[in-house]
Amino acid sequence: MKALVWHGKEDIRCDTVSDPEIEDARDAIIKVTSCAICGSDLHLFHNFIPAMEPGDIMGHEMMGEVVEVGSGINGALKKGDRIVVPFTILCGECDQCKRGNFSVCERSNRNKDMADKVFGHTTAGLFGYTHLTGGYPGGQAEYLRVPFADKTHIKVPDSLTDEQALFLGDIFPTGWQAAVHCDIEPTDTVAIWGCGPVGQMAIRSAVLLGARQVVAIDCIPERLSMAEAGGAITINFETESVVERLNELTSGKGPEKCIDAVGLESHVSMGQPDTLLDRAKQMVMLESDRPHVLREMIYVCRPGGIISIAGVYGGLVDKIPMGPAMNKGLTFRMGQTHVNRWTDDLVRRIEEGQIDPSFVITHTAALEDGPDMYKVFRNKQDGCVKVVLKT
Ligand code: NAD
Ligand code: ZN
Ligand code: ZN
Repeated sequence: MKALVWHGKEDIRCDTVSDPEIEDARDAIIKVTSCAICGSDLHLFHNFIPAMEPGDIMGHEMMGEVVEVGSGINGALKKGDRIVVPFTILCGECDQCKRGNFSVCERSNRNKDMADKVFGHTTAGLFGYTHLTGGYPGGQAEYLRVPFADKTHIKVPDSLTDEQALFLGDIFPTGWQAAVHCDIEPTDTVAIWGCGPVGQMAIRSAVLLGARQVVAIDCIPERLSMAEAGGAITINFETESVVERLNELTSGKGPEKCIDAVGLESHVSMGQPDTLLDRAKQMVMLESDRPHVLREMIYVCRPGGIISIAGVYGGLVDKIPMGPAMNKGLTFRMGQTHVNRWTDDLVRRIEEGQIDPSFVITHTAALEDGPDMYKVFRNKQDGCVKVVLKT
């Protein structure tokens, strides 16, 4: 089959590889019909997260048709079913899965020992996402083996197109969880850093959850326009001071809720040094060490507020100014998304027409064009916000 394969930094190729096979009774094989490129894939593209190996198949946002099931699936899935595959693999039976904490499933990471050594604990197995999270082949491919497939799936109602359903496996619940983690009150200002696909979903989610105002921050005009269409007030961090604008919009008090939809590759947004800033302010916000966005959020968030982090952090050296965070009494909530926790609610909202997640798609291409589309997405060329690949 054809698949997008990692060969090293900025080197993704469309190769011919072996078809996947059933390896365990709880496996299923799907024929992928649509898959997408995620901001998280860019961290691997840039080789910012270690533990990829040449030959690894990329991709964790995919859907398709079940073509084969293992003997232990017990009727949960059958040939011909149309499913979205959540990016977090879940066993459905461990203590964490029973609590709905699917992204920290205790059994789905087959390289648990490696994760234990690095993180001091395990995380769930993830598709196409480094050997620390199981080294499972990803879904930017014609076929995919789905482990624990009796639980690791989302059945798609016939009424939804691929484009409407695909993002139920990652970015829609990711933006949604980030907004839910904010415990939004009708009086709240929710500020969202990053208007990529995840930020766009977080914006629409915060609007649906009834925030008084949603403020979206980025520097890419097309992404800011899409944010505005979704109901946000926008700030271009290249031409405006994020902190000053956020204070203006909140009578000098700062937003109650802040969402990080950027993660480890954030750019320094405070381009022009402000001569009025004293050293302490610089230490919170302006030091060149990452994470820039998180530092800015801690600086501007209203005391007692919530910092909700959807952006992925992979390094072990991020510098977080804990002093101001502690003294302001901030609450931090974060994590890989517990995708299936949100499925029923989000499918219903799509079916009811409250939201159509396909709004985010700007580019559709063939799987073979995937290597070029990684570059288009990374460079935000031609107004690119989200790329869907068809097999
Ligand atoms: P993306 O790279 O397309 O979007 C990131 C956006 O952030 C870009 O538009 C960029 O211009 C903007 N940005 C950079 N620096 C900024 C700054 N200083 N201030 C404001 N905006 C800034 O990626 P995406 O697909 O939207 O994903 C966003 C993040 O979410 C990534 O880190 C990704 O790994 C993560 N993610 C997490 C989960 C999860 O389960 N928690 C799931 C999916 C994606
Ligand atoms: Zn993703
Ligand atoms: Zn589990």
